[in-house]
Amino acid sequence: MDITSKLKILDQIYSIYDNFVDSLDLACKKYCDHCCTSGVTLTTLEGYKIIDRLTSDTNTDVIQNIQSASQIKRLRPQITTNRLAQLCAQGVDPPEEADNLDLPACPLLSDHKCPIFELRPYGCRCLVSRHNCAEKGYAEIDDFVLSVNTVFLQTIEHIDADGCSGNLVDILQAMSVDKNRKAYCSSALHCSANKLIPNQPLEVLMIPPEHRTKMEPVLQELREIKV
Ligand code: SF4
Ligand code: SF4
Repeated sequence: MDITSKLKILDQIYSIYDNFVDSLDLACKKYCDHCCTSGVTLTTLEGYKIIDRLTSDTNTDVIQNIQSASQIKRLRPQITTNRLAQLCAQGVDPPEEADNLDLPACPLLSDHKCPIFELRPYGCRCLVSRHNCAEKGYAEIDDFVLSVNTVFLQTIEHIDADGCSGNLVDILQAMSVDKNRKAYCSSALHCSANKLIPNQPLEVLMIPPEHRTKMEPVLQELREIKV
């Protein structure tokens, strides 16, 4: 699939998810940024979209902030969600992920605002909570919402199955280099050379039995996505 088609699908996935989130009763509101940490992860497709659609005004600041965040403490995922699903299906224990406690703020956050809010990756969109995280120190997410979040993570990774996943800083550093974007569009980006991990196709959806019926309308919307 070419990059234009992938981006069109990604936009529709975001739109379906944003509509789903709008139907939830959440404490999330503008300038609430406790969840904006250096733990955000995403796919190369999402990073490509961010770099590709930055306006000339925001471009310089975003690229500069990402370049100067090279040494920041951040969460680097060990395996992707679809790889985790494969291991679970095989009955194999996944590698342990490092905890994401005590991470600094996202290097893009500026004055409690996200400079790429409309372009923010799925990993930011799905950070939601029923109560204010700043008051309790953690987010409270309904089990069904967690299941929906996992399905969307798996779907986005599947669309980008010949790409990579990683931390926001590493992905945006990689995607801000012309040579890497060209390699990515030719399905030739080297994940580990850019401190990223390879994406996997979706083989098994991780939906608990008790959520399957309730999830069906969302799944149907995903199935109806057109390029
Ligand atoms: S997840 Fe928590 S910190 Fe983030 S916007 Fe929602 S309530 Fe605020
Ligand atoms: S990219 Fe934007 S929404 Fe996501 S963590 Fe950073 S500042 Fe927050």
